[in-house]
Amino acid sequence: MAELLLGQVLSYAGDPFAEGLGAARHLTHGAVLIEDGRIRAVGPADTLRAAHPQARVTDYGRHLISAGFVDAHAHYPQTAIIASWGKRLIDWLNLYTFPEEMRFADPDYAALIAARYFDLTLANGTTSVCSYCTIHPASVDAFFAAAARRGQRVWAGKTCMDRNAPEGLRDSAASAYDDSKRLLTKWHGAGRASYVITPRFSPTSTPEQLSAMGALWAEHPDCLMQTHLSEQTDEIAWVRSLYPSTRDYLDTYEAHGLLGKGGLYGHAIWLEEREKARLAEVDDSLIHGPTSNTFIGSGLFDMGGLKAAGHRVGLATDTGGGSSFSMLRTMAAAYEVGQLRGRALHPAELWWLATQGSAQSLHAADRIGNIAPGMEADLVVIDLSSTPAIAQASARAEDIWQALFPTIMMGDDRATHAVWVAGQKVV
Ligand SMILES: [Zn+2]
Repeated sequence: MAELLLGQVLSYAGDPFAEGLGAARHLTHGAVLIEDGRIRAVGPADTLRAAHPQARVTDYGRHLISAGFVDAHAHYPQTAIIASWGKRLIDWLNLYTFPEEMRFADPDYAALIAARYFDLTLANGTTSVCSYCTIHPASVDAFFAAAARRGQRVWAGKTCMDRNAPEGLRDSAASAYDDSKRLLTKWHGAGRASYVITPRFSPTSTPEQLSAMGALWAEHPDCLMQTHLSEQTDEIAWVRSLYPSTRDYLDTYEAHGLLGKGGLYGHAIWLEEREKARLAEVDDSLIHGPTSNTFIGSGLFDMGGLKAAGHRVGLATDTGGGSSFSMLRTMAAAYEVGQLRGRALHPAELWWLATQGSAQSLHAADRIGNIAPGMEADLVVIDLSSTPAIAQASARAEDIWQALFPTIMMGDDRATHAVWVAGQKVV
């Protein structure tokens, strides 16, 4: 049966970083028609009601209907260690991350955390995620199975590490290749699942393992490849000592076949000029995790400069180095990081990053991250007055952006009024 959702509707006809506010489309009394899991039409409520009298109507009043949020970089196995105190990146991995990831050798534990992770993220209006798993194949199966039960479009891969990680959390170049290939064959394109080739980062892979991952990517160029790049200065110094013959951090990937279109590079804070130029040349995706960057003390991502230079940029929680499951909180942190770099991101830009920008970074902007005919019907309905503090601020608003910004800065899962996945209401 066709569903007709009424409310304020926000969508995009372009990238507001490039085209300004004219790229955003806002309907005060709008409607979205859903059928067979897809968006069939968007337009004024009166027009769509008259044209589709048989559709079942859900009236969301003044609430805002948007594409569901897309989180372009997360570590679902770190769900239970989110908001662990202190430490910089390498200590954080050794003290918190690795002991927790060790537990995913148990398929039941992996299933428990995967279910918890999707419950938490859906409650925050996130309908698609791209996640790292652990080195254990069972952690990948648990993730994709949990997503399939909820009908979600997701990306994930087995994290590969064959050095500088504890016993029990290391694979080898050969087993990483074999396990990844088997999981890729099992999950890539199964329903709404996409497999992502996932070397954690250069310090935890030997050159042999990076080469094996590069070879696998060359065999499956339709897969994305995700890794980390230039997050902290001490990490970069470590990479230099581990790979003395490479020009820079990016070169450790490039030298092993891990640079190209479809590559997702998390963080990318301390890039050198050669790295920026080379990444732009290959039409890379840079993934910004602002709550993680401030929480672990990594640095300030240059959103203004990198967007102006034409990079694809996605927005991400980076759970659990990031300190929140909420893409609203993540937008707020992106705003704060932007302020510290002298570039105040407009609410239209922040919202675009959390939906269409992240979808673009995952090369899926034609399917998710926007409201337009033919797109998959993954939607979030946002209450713009979800707390007394937000309600009193948004009550003074003179346009949609003033009404939306208090929710971006102060909102949490209470702002999630409803969530639709593939045309089904799930929250
Ligand atoms: Zn990460």
